[in-house]
Amino acid sequence: MRITCVGGGPAGLYFAVLAKLADPAHEITVLERNPAGVTYGWGVVFWDDLLDDLYRYDPVSAERISRAACRWDSYEVRATGKAATHLAGYGFSLGRRELLEILAARALELGVDVRFRDEPAEVPAADLVVASDGAGSRIRERYAEHFGAEIEVGRNKYIWLGTPHVFDTFTFGFEQTAAGWIWYHAYPFDAETSTFIVECTPETWSGLGLDELDAARGCARLQEIFAAHLDGRPLIDHRAGTGGTGWLNYRRLTTRRWDHGNVVLMGDAAHTTHFAIGSGTKLAMQDAMALADALAGGDEPAVALERYEHRRKTALAPLQRAAKASSEWFERVPDYTHLPAKQFSYALANRRGEYPMWRYLLHVTTQSAGPRVALRWALSVRRWHRARRRPGLAAAPAVAGRAPEPARTGSGLAAG
Ligand SMILES: Cc1cc2nc3c(=O)[nH]c(=O)nc-3n(C[C@H](O)[C@H](O)[C@H](O)COP(=O)(O)OP(=O)(O)OC[C@H]3O[C@@H](n4cnc5c(N)ncnc54)[C@H](O)[C@@H]3O)c2cc1C
Repeated sequence: MRITCVGGGPAGLYFAVLAKLADPAHEITVLERNPAGVTYGWGVVFWDDLLDDLYRYDPVSAERISRAACRWDSYEVRATGKAATHLAGYGFSLGRRELLEILAARALELGVDVRFRDEPAEVPAADLVVASDGAGSRIRERYAEHFGAEIEVGRNKYIWLGTPHVFDTFTFGFEQTAAGWIWYHAYPFDAETSTFIVECTPETWSGLGLDELDAARGCARLQEIFAAHLDGRPLIDHRAGTGGTGWLNYRRLTTRRWDHGNVVLMGDAAHTTHFAIGSGTKLAMQDAMALADALAGGDEPAVALERYEHRRKTALAPLQRAAKASSEWFERVPDYTHLPAKQFSYALANRRGEYPMWRYLLHVTTQSAGPRVALRWALSVRRWHRARRRPGLAAAPAVAGRAPEPARTGSGLAAG
């Protein structure tokens, strides 16, 4: 089969890897408009559930991702006028560029034709065209009426920045300013860099004058606001010097249908989930797994694409609800900031409103160092045990015939 993936993000590259593993006779091309090694964004977070899946589908790339990833083992919450508090949970983070380099190298070594600086003017001719061209998918737009995309625009403003300040762990920081509250989601993703996503209401954004500052001056303003959190290190916006700024409103995208003839949507081209639950990359890669499974099933392509769409829409629904609840909580942050420190961080952890009472008791107990260290130790044993159950490289399974896995959650106690 001749397969072309338009877009070399996590979805397109990982699907190319899995489809080639399933059938080396497939002729697979990935067209990526950016040069090699150039991408947007900083590090992304993920949890054990994605690693489990990656090891089941391709232990070789899973091992490389696991080795390159940064591990963190708790969440810290800081807010002006409140003592720092802690949330139980652990996870991983990895630079987006590094992830793409691992996937591109794996695709190339399997014989996939990965072409950078290649942006097709038309939908390419192939037996199957995978539209993995991200949230602004031109292919989706080309057949807009058929795919039926709906976009809900979030209220808050956000910007995805990086910093050479290496945070100890995943940190949420809330600062009170004269124009209202502004906060960040930050986590280390290698030995030298952290992701630093800043978010605030539109009123605070314009009240702080951020709507009128270019990227460099906007970063300088944010550095002043978050100086106490950055240890004197700068914030970096790749757009500095370009005249633009990276401030955006989150756009929640859903699509009525995912396939049209031989064209199928995947990853952010089909659906987006708010960054506050850190799952877009995971979902894009799980789409790739589901499509690879569906195609390996031996059905007519139309039936396979239908099966893929059904499996993924079913798996996505609970996460999309969680992401919506989470993004709406962040739109109401000013309603919670009067709470004392422990209640405030618990409200943040429970922003999807799904925790039983024991979680609150655990949260309060683990604000003391002794119980917190004990819980962290128990979680690290669990993490180690889970890692041991993953198949080794010698047990690399074929893609064909693998049973779909039910949707699962990450570390169980994860608050992200
Ligand atoms: C602020 C922020 C933080 C995030 N944090 C996380 C996180 O912590 N964890 C997580 O899992 N996810 C996170 N995400 C989401 C994640 O980045 C996306 O969901 C994920 O990258 C989707 O993968 P994709 O392959 O579908 O699309 P993309 O990663 O967007 O890749 C699409 C690719 O297609 C290329 N392309 C586009 N158009 C064309 C064209 N016409 N021709 C050729 N190439 C084209 C683009 O250059 C790009 O390389 C975050 C997103 C944001 C905005």
